[in-house]
Amino acid sequence: MTDCLFCKIIDGKIPSKKIYEDDRVYAFEDINPQAPTHVLIIPKRHIVDIKEATDADAEIIGYCNLVAAKIARERGLERGYRTVYNVGPDSGQTVFHLHLHLLGGRPMTWPPG
Ligand code: 5GP
Ligand code: ZN
Repeated sequence: MTDCLFCKIIDGKIPSKKIYEDDRVYAFEDINPQAPTHVLIIPKRHIVDIKEATDADAEIIGYCNLVAAKIARERGLERGYRTVYNVGPDSGQTVFHLHLHLLGGRPMTWPPG
């Protein structure tokens, strides 16, 4: 999608700190980290968010979670980390290209704000 920030990041038109990439997903450091590890995992195919996703997106949504788990393992975060999808404006979602937040490296509070 031409007017999408994260599509531009995937295309390299906007710089980012890449953590991982393959043919299906791109993972990069969040520009405004909320924890020592704050990585965004995004499908290369433009999907708006979970509520707009369809059955055809099920595999890529699952795969994003597995990539998050792999990054967490590599960073030694297995004592505890959090994966989050913000969905819709009231959740704080600001970028409308599906992205999984991976947060870790500090104690996580519950419930989240
Ligand atoms: P949301 O609030 O939509 O769930 O998450 C969007 C995330 O994207 C935020 O955590 C925000 O800091 C991050 N973000 C916004 N613009 C950029 C950018 O240009 N580069 C990077 N690396 N992260 C961004
Ligand atoms: Zn996009």
